[in-house]
Amino acid sequence: MNRSTMVSSAQTRIRTDPFSNDCTLVARELGRGKFAVVKKCIDKSTGKEYAAKFLRKRRKGEDCRLDIINEIAILEIAKFSPHVVDLHEVYETASEIILVLEYAAGGEIFHQCVAHHDEAFTEKDVIRLLRQILNGVSYLHENNVVHLDLKPQNILLTSSNPLGDIRIVDFGLSRQVDSVKEVREILGTPEYVAPEILNYEPISTATAIWSIGVLTYVMLTGDSTFLGGDKQETFLNISQLNVHYGPDVFEGITDLAVDFIKSLLIKNPRKRAKVEQCLRHPWLCPSTDLAKPLKEADLEESESEPTDAVASDELVLMAS
Ligand code: ADP
Ligand code: MG
Repeated sequence: MNRSTMVSSAQTRIRTDPFSNDCTLVARELGRGKFAVVKKCIDKSTGKEYAAKFLRKRRKGEDCRLDIINEIAILEIAKFSPHVVDLHEVYETASEIILVLEYAAGGEIFHQCVAHHDEAFTEKDVIRLLRQILNGVSYLHENNVVHLDLKPQNILLTSSNPLGDIRIVDFGLSRQVDSVKEVREILGTPEYVAPEILNYEPISTATAIWSIGVLTYVMLTGDSTFLGGDKQETFLNISQLNVHYGPDVFEGITDLAVDFIKSLLIKNPRKRAKVEQCLRHPWLCPSTDLAKPLKEADLEESESEPTDAVASDELVLMAS
């Protein structure tokens, strides 16, 4: 991976005293990725709940400590955004770095994205949550940070019922971009990567806007925009902008929502809406009243299986 574009130093004091002196792990695992496992824990002195992300320093025989420092540094840059998860403490052991993060009790928005009927988001929910996601992303972009792995598994909720607020997590692939250094890397999750990533063209804040377009599509419809039978077909769908806006998928969803998605899923990154334009789109104006539940069509087919949206979580990640 190209490390030249990563933030190579962090301010947070990295503690080497044992994590277990201060925190008790709660049995429940909150999630895991390729190189990390996240567990709920309780601060012994305050009784407060946190999420501890255990990151392995060695991955595939390579020392990846700097990737973790980059993740910490980006969390520091974003600490004043209410919609980015807070970093509380950092511990280091011989083999791991542990990030003690604010606990997002509502879990991944992924679950509601693929849920049916009553549990699925209404268009009104999507509008409120998307504004928060865009506000978080706007903060990142003001600071020249691009997330590069925005997807429903990395967007969490403070509570799920009642529906709480957004916390963006997982800055493992995030990069700082500026006009001087060009970033060209192949990374991200197949269904969410922008065409410029596939073409090995420079990454910019517009790259994250593309993923927000895919995210919005999934939040509204439960369908994964570009998912094909395999990775190659997914990539072909992306590069050919093969998006289905038909009434079967968008039944009961407003034209403004579709218009919003279309302004994000534009192949040329320079022509794509900027985050501020997204926030000013008429669909996201607070006066819009769209309390109607989504997926009325689904109510009729009560036996239908949950969609396989976003089934593949595999990283493409392979540039040098
Ligand atoms: P990875 O880099 O391995 O994908 P993430 O940071 O995305 O790691 O964490 C993996 C999963 O753990 C997330 O998708 C989510 O389900 C859960 N998780 C991560 N951070 C938190 C948190 N702060 N609160 C609750 N759950 C979390
Ligand atoms: Mg993740």
